[in-house]
This record gives sequence, C-alpha cells and structure tokens, in this order.
Amino acid sequence: MKEQDYLDHLVGVFGHPVAENPGVVIQEAAFRDLGLRNWRFLTINVDPDKLGDAILGLKAMKFRGINCTIPHKIGVLKYIDVLSPSAKLIGAVNTIINDNGVLTGDNTDGKGFMIALESAGISPKDKNVVVLGAGGAARAICVELALAGARHLTIVNIPKDIAFGESLVRILKENTRVAVDYVSWVDAFKIPAGTDILVNATSIGLYPNVNDKPNIDYDTITKDMYVQDVIPNPAFTPFLREAERRGSRWQNGMQMLINQAALNITMWTGLKPNKEVMLKALEEALS
Ligand code: NDP
Repeated sequence: MKEQDYLDHLVGVFGHPVAENPGVVIQEAAFRDLGLRNWRFLTINVDPDKLGDAILGLKAMKFRGINCTIPHKIGVLKYIDVLSPSAKLIGAVNTIINDNGVLTGDNTDGKGFMIALESAGISPKDKNVVVLGAGGAARAICVELALAGARHLTIVNIPKDIAFGESLVRILKENTRVAVDYVSWVDAFKIPAGTDILVNATSIGLYPNVNDKPNIDYDTITKDMYVQDVIPNPAFTPFLREAERRGSRWQNGMQMLINQAALNITMWTGLKPNKEVMLKALEEALS
C-alpha cells in the first residue's frame, strides 16, 4: 500500500509587495528534484504593520521557515530568538528557521553573493571594491566582503539615507579590518582608478523599471574591473550592458539568488539542492 502522508511542510517568503518574487519557482523546482513532494513554498503579502501577526501565524501553522524580503528584513528582528553572527552584524534577517517555535534568524544574501563571486573565479581578498547602495542587500554584501578580507570598500549612497549608510560604515570599522570610504551620491559617480570589483547593490534596474541604471560615469569603468549586479530580473540590466561595452567581466544577480536559495533549503531541510535545476527553472520562468 502507498504511504498516506498528506501533511504539508511549509516555507515561503513574507514581502510587501511580493508578487514578482521568483522564490517559489526556484525552491519548488529544488523540492521536486529532491523528492520532497509535500514541501510547499508560499509567496505571502504581509503588510508592514501585520508582521507580528504573520509571525504568530507562522508558528501556529508550524512553518519550517520563512524568507523575509522588502520591507521586512529589519522589522522582523524583534521577533527573532537567536541571531546568527552575520545577521547580527548586518542588522537584517532574510531567512528564519523555526525549530518548534524557536526562531533563528540568518542572512544568506551576502553569503549567496560570495558564492556567486567565487563561481565567477573572483576572490575579494585584498581587493578594492565599490558598492552602490546601503540598503539590506548592500549591508549583507559589505559585511561578507569585509569578513573575506577585502582591502578597501567605497560605499556610494544617496544623501537621504545618510544615517543608515554611516551606521554601516561604523559597523564595518568596529568589527572588521577593512578600510571604508563613504560617498554621498549626488552627481554621476566616477569609479576610482584601481577599483577591482564594482557592485550594483541598489534596486535600480529591477522589473518593471528595466531601463533605469545607476547614475555613474560609465566611461570610468575599465576592462580590468569585475562588475556584479544584484538584480536578477531582468538578468541583463542596462548597468551590465554598459560594463560589457567597456570590456569588463560581469555577472548578473541570478547566481546570487540561486545560491542564497540553496543555502535556505539546506537550513530548512538539511539537504543540498541541485543548483542547475534551480537555475534552469528560474531562467524558464523569466524568459
Ligand atoms: P533596499 O530597499 O533595502 O535597498 C535598496 C537600495 O537602493 C537603497 O539604498 C536605496 O536607497 C537605493 N536606491 C534605490 N533607488 C535608487 C536611486 N535611484 N539612486 C540611488 N540609490 C537608490 O533593498 P534591498 O537591499 O533588499 O534590495 C536591493 C536590490 O537587491 C533589489 O532589487 C533586490 O531585488 C536585489 N536583491 C537581489 C538578491 C539576489 O539574490 N540576487 C538578494 C537580495 C536583494 P533608498 O532606500 O533611499 O531608496
């Protein structure tokens, strides 16, 4: 007789808005491939003032875990019981693991970014890096780059966020050995000579604003720079197009997304998913 087990194992993402988030495509492809037929990834629209209720619901329904995306990565901190060291440093959580009501918060954005860099054959050790933006993704990326031994970080951020940007600089200086410059982003930013890695960690270029690109002097990008975008959709942003025109090596945000999703799956299930399967599913969904 066939096994009768219809109990769903729930994970998902809380966001607002969240309809464009492709997490379900990637994660459920991995679950199918792993033979986890009762695992479900739910895409859930949670208003910022209802996050506490959503967390109670998550515990009541025994979700195994949840991802948090814009705007919940910081707001969720107050509901977390145990924070991973990097999530503590970053000050934001994108992944929660629920162990019988005890919530552990981690941050896999920066770790996914680092694995993506590695897969492109790039080591940040002793490198000069420019990071555009100081939001959730930028913070995670800067912390991981600093912990991995980057020599110098230039964080370029719009003046409206100055307190947020400066708090990131303080955290980096107090907890890592990296040298940091903070640039208030007003005019077209000139990439300093000697930059090894340039990262767009803003949301500029994300669907539906597919023609937008960061305000930089693109003629200051040189072919010896490696250029990384965090935007996964569309994969080939105007920012990357400009980098390609200057002969730079580049990578889009898909590898980062796949790698952070793979880390989440391992945290929730204890299993290692097939990243090729996940990437193929994402590419099909976005094509
Ligand atoms: P946040 O809203 O926390 O940060 C976005 C940053 O971009 C903020 O500093 C924001 O400034 C800045 N920004 C937005 N518009 C402009 C502009 N016109 N000029 C200058 N700066 C601007 O979002 P996240 O950091 O969480 O996410 C950023 C992007 O990274 C998103 O597009 C998301 O899809 C992507 N992402 C990709 C991941 C992947 O795995 N590939 C993982 C996580 C995120 P302000 O707040 O003042 O608007």
